[in-house]
Order: sequence, then C-alpha cells, then structure tokens
Amino acid sequence: MTVHRELAWAKINLSLRLGPVRPSDGRHLLVTLFSSLRLADALTIEAGGGRDEVVCDAVPGRNLVADALAGLRAAGWDAPAVRVMIDKRIPLAAGMGGGSADAAAMLRAAHRLAPVPAGAVAAIAARLGADVPAQLHPGASLAVGAGEIAEPVVDLAAHGVVVVPQRFGLSSADVYREADRLGLPGGDLHAARRELAAALPGPLADRLVVNDLEAAALSLAPEIARARGAVAQAGVDRALVCGSGPTVIGVCWGSDGVERAARAAARLRARFPGVVNAAPLARGVGEPSSKP
Ligand code: ATP
Repeated sequence: MTVHRELAWAKINLSLRLGPVRPSDGRHLLVTLFSSLRLADALTIEAGGGRDEVVCDAVPGRNLVADALAGLRAAGWDAPAVRVMIDKRIPLAAGMGGGSADAAAMLRAAHRLAPVPAGAVAAIAARLGADVPAQLHPGASLAVGAGEIAEPVVDLAAHGVVVVPQRFGLSSADVYREADRLGLPGGDLHAARRELAAALPGPLADRLVVNDLEAAALSLAPEIARARGAVAQAGVDRALVCGSGPTVIGVCWGSDGVERAARAAARLRARFPGVVNAAPLARGVGEPSSKP
C-alpha cells in the first residue's frame, strides 16, 4: 500500500455566539465563524497488520481517528487494514479542535485507499462531533446548528493570529456545563448570524470578534485572564479565548496581519513559551484532489 499523508489543520473561532441546548441531542446551538490555521497535526497512513490501528502517544485512551475508521468500516469501506500514525502539533484539549481535525483528515483521506459509499463521510463526520463536518473542508466557514451546518466563506479578510496555549487543558463538556450554570447562553442566534454574515468578508468589528464561552472558561480557569490580558497588550486588534479554551488567541486584521501577529508572538514568548503565530489556511488547500 502506498503511504498516504494527510494534514489536519487547527481551527479557531473568530466569533462564537452561544444559544440554548437543542432538545434532540443535548448539544448547544451556536453561530460561529471558523478559520483554519496553518498549524497542523500530520497523519501518516500505511498498511497495517490484521486490523486497523491508530498510533498517537500524545492522546491517552480512545482516539477519534479510531472512531472515524470504525465508522468507515461499518459503512462498507473495504480498504486493507491500516496503521495511522498521528504526529500531534495542535495543543490538546485547547479549544482548537485537534481531535476533530484528525478525524476529518482521516475521512478526507479514506477515498484514496478504497471507494467510500456515497454520503458516508458526511454522516460519519456528523456523528463523531459537531466540529468535524466543518473541518472536512478546511478554511473559513460560517457554521450554525451545533456547528455542524457550515457554509464556506471564500474570501475572509486577511488576518494573522497569535496563539497562546496553556499548560493545562479544559474539557469542552465542562465548559459548556459551566456556561449553563452561569446562564450564559440565550442570545438571538438568528440576529447574530445575520449580523455576522452581513459583516463578511470582514475585517470584523471588535463587537463581532467575541466568544460567548469565554466567561465559562475563565470561571473554570481564572489564570486564563493573565494570558488574555498579555495578548491584548501585545499589539493585536482583538484578544479572546479560543472555542472552549483555554487557548488564548490574538487576531490582527489586514495585509500586515501575519507580520503583526509574529511581532506579538515575539513580545509574548518570554512569558508564554508555547506561543506561536499562524496564518489562516486559504480555502481549498485542504480539499481532496478528487471528491470521496
Ligand atoms: P474541541 O474544540 O473540538 O471541542 P479541543 O480542541 O478542546 O476540542 P481536542 O484536542 O480535540 O480538544 O481533544 C479533546 C479530547 O479528545 C482529548 O482530551 C482526548 O482525550 C480526546 N481525543 C481523542 N482523539 C484525539 C485526537 N486525535 N487528538 C486530540 N484529542 C483526541
């Protein structure tokens, strides 16, 4: 079997507006603007032994890529057994969607090994997690539902991002639970979507570059405030917690945004050693060469 390599890009949420819980599945409704970054895990897919195997030392316990493979097998995908090695670069439990990105990368790569039954990839992605469908097509997207109904944003305004990971992770489920406890959700999501869509392709006004989960992440881990304050002072346009946190991002709009994010990263590096700056991924870069 040829060795296949697939990149799994991190996502940030440039805007995340939270609504109520959806009774059908207990997930929160939201409106969010995803942007994929040029910060990626790498999947290497090669011939396996008798059964599929996922090797990823950084992630203890069941891997979402193993779940993606199980879904593909159940749908009738009959490639020979594979071994998938994951080189993790995306910080873990950081609100940057690393697990979802890895699963989406496996689903994108599957058709290169054997035909995938029509509709299977989309169905498996939706089952694996609300962030997975959007990450099947890396790039910017505006998502509704629980994040699984995503429309591409083809020409999002140029921006650069400085990313400050934390030494600890936060479970997304805990953060959503804390948001409920604090009574955070409840905005008018239709209005939020309309306002965001009208402002695209941006650059977005500060009031739109917001994260309704931020207060919940800060409530669970008040030390995030230190990084958020430092990023806000580092010359970026907007500092916010990324997704369910605890990663803090700084967004710099404009054609010099990537350079400004790099300068911010340099300023922050002494206090926050894990800091990276990243450019957004142009839409289409992560698309499969032919459709599954
Ligand atoms: P999201 O923003 O999508 O809610 P996250 O970025 O906060 O997620 P992840 O890094 O995706 O968090 O991981 C959350 C948990 O999922 C991890 O703690 C880990 O136990 C589990 N997991 C399973 N597979 C993976 C994977 N391939 N990469 C990272 N985490 C994985």
